[in-house]
Amino acid sequence: MQDFSKLFKKALNHMPNSEQEWKDKLTPEQYKVLRQKGTEAPFSGKLLHEERDGVFACAACGNPLFASTAKFDSGSGWPSFDQALPGATKEIPDTSLGMTRTEVVCAQCGSHLGHLFDDGPTTTGARYCMNSVCLDFGEGEK
Ligand SMILES: [Zn+2]
Repeated sequence: MQDFSKLFKKALNHMPNSEQEWKDKLTPEQYKVLRQKGTEAPFSGKLLHEERDGVFACAACGNPLFASTAKFDSGSGWPSFDQALPGATKEIPDTSLGMTRTEVVCAQCGSHLGHLFDDGPTTTGARYCMNSVCLDFGEGEK
């Protein structure tokens, strides 16, 4: 498998170990979504229409999460993927807001990324509904 880690200059040497460190490192919008499980407004994300080849990584720690080949347009207003890179994410049952959903977090730093639904249009059946603000894009080599 391709080593995506080199694509990300922001990959962490030092993982923040307090919420104050995360606050200093992230923008207020990123902090709200990544660390406080917020949701960005639909159709607001800068990566929603990213069409280049490459990989999407965790904006908090640089962990590669999704290949561009897994991205599809779900019409939801959030970047959507039909599968994550192996071991990149963790899925956690989420019963907040009176709904039963599956929360997706970064396997490396535990930051909130979005939710996983089982109504995806491709053969995987999965729809990873991600917040654009939680992702960084690195263009891959051709
Ligand atoms: Zn992370």
